[in-house]
Amino acid sequence: MTLHIPVDYLTASIADGVLRPGDPWYTEGATTMTGEGSPDLVVRPRTTHEVATAVRFARGHRLPLTVRAGGHSIAGLSTVDRGLLLDLRRLDDVAVDPGTRRVRVGGGATWGTVARALQPHGLGLTAGDTASVGVGGLTLGGGIGWMVRRHGLAVDNLVGAQVVTAAGEVLETSADAHPDLFWALRGGGGGLGVVTRFDFRAEPVDDVLFGTVTFALEDPLTLLTAWRDHQRAAADRLTTVLNLLPPMEGRPAVAMLGLCLVGEREGAGLDPLLALGTVLRSDVAVRPYADVLAEGHHAPGGRPTMRNTFLPELDDAALAHVARLTEGGATVVSLRALGGALARVPADATAFAHRSAETLVTAISLAGDTVGSACAWADLAARGTGSYVNFLSVAGEHADAVAYPARTRQRLEQVRERYAAAGLSRAGVLP
Ligand SMILES: Cc1cc2nc3c(=O)[nH]c(=O)nc-3n(C[C@H](O)[C@H](O)[C@H](O)COP(=O)(O)OP(=O)(O)OC[C@H]3O[C@@H](n4cnc5c(N)ncnc54)[C@H](O)[C@@H]3O)c2cc1C
Repeated sequence: MTLHIPVDYLTASIADGVLRPGDPWYTEGATTMTGEGSPDLVVRPRTTHEVATAVRFARGHRLPLTVRAGGHSIAGLSTVDRGLLLDLRRLDDVAVDPGTRRVRVGGGATWGTVARALQPHGLGLTAGDTASVGVGGLTLGGGIGWMVRRHGLAVDNLVGAQVVTAAGEVLETSADAHPDLFWALRGGGGGLGVVTRFDFRAEPVDDVLFGTVTFALEDPLTLLTAWRDHQRAAADRLTTVLNLLPPMEGRPAVAMLGLCLVGEREGAGLDPLLALGTVLRSDVAVRPYADVLAEGHHAPGGRPTMRNTFLPELDDAALAHVARLTEGGATVVSLRALGGALARVPADATAFAHRSAETLVTAISLAGDTVGSACAWADLAARGTGSYVNFLSVAGEHADAVAYPARTRQRLEQVRERYAAAGLSRAGVLP
């Protein structure tokens, strides 16, 4: 589709940051990890002022507006086939004040950039597990990472955010300024304006004990039970993720236990964990936290079917459903231990409400659902309290309905109406 509106004003206001189909960098801007879009314009602002200019331009010309930061949206929310795509990746400054531990992060930065900037100061921020994931999308959904039990969610360490509203107005938000919007930004999943700066409070983080132990997956239920029992007694400074992988490329099914121990290593009681089954490989070692974040290697355009549920209790019946999920041979199942600092924040303090969950279970179907895996998932999800918005491969009303309890959803709607009257929808699109 050819755009029939003049863009001279925009090109004059945002130097070398307005791209049309055929321009160098256009395709790179329009392609995310999960999709290749064809927007009418890709706009790459460098400042908050340029973001506000682009938002007002889109609004003035009734152009749908989509926001992109790290481009890792599993639901494919950050590219489109029409309208204006706001690519925030040039807003990637990270400014650290070691005295106050305040960290100001541009709305388009990635977690790898943040971790590298904090490392020399002996600081860290609990975030995701992948360096190339954006601070924007991950934080707006909550942010579950390798230090979640010790330091909570990414949003639990957020102390302020600068937002360009759908009307192009610049707001500073915090617990004291526009507190309703600040509440909604912490887990509401986006669609509340463009966040041009996130202000976090970092924690002192020394080297961590981190790595993966790969076990033969001979008896899933026994292994799952032993992991659950160990995690229930573990200190908050230990966070683990147990991945159960089906047979693939000639190798049998395996269980991969990822672990991150922050702080004191003495008395962490890891031995039973390291002996959950027959060990095939292990790379557990002491390393800087910045080295822990994986480099993501994902072919653009690949979009797995991903579901998840927060379980308030990983009881024996739930474990039996998880074990059944592994039987079809085409599902990767992942269990994240929660609790600790995440659970100490009241459920209504932020828009992320799943505070009392013991575990987050995620299932990725590699070859579509078998009847058996679909039934096992339904049985498991019936015991859950809802889903993590950032791990859903679908978006829209159905996703919001499973991700947010009714009271949270209602509050989010009120905030959206207040700040985005004609506004940004969940996917960041102006009508
Ligand atoms: C390989 C991989 C690993 C992951 N690991 C984790 C993990 O360990 N923990 C975890 O919690 N999640 C994880 N996730 C999920 C991740 O949190 C979401 O996919 C998230 O949306 C990615 O953020 P992004 O900025 O990269 O994405 P984008 O696709 O750029 O953005 C996602 C959504 O957020 C909006 N958005 C982003 N930035 C802004 C902004 N500044 N202002 C307004 N709206 C904005 C976009 O418009 C879009 O709707 C992972 C995802 C992948 C693909």
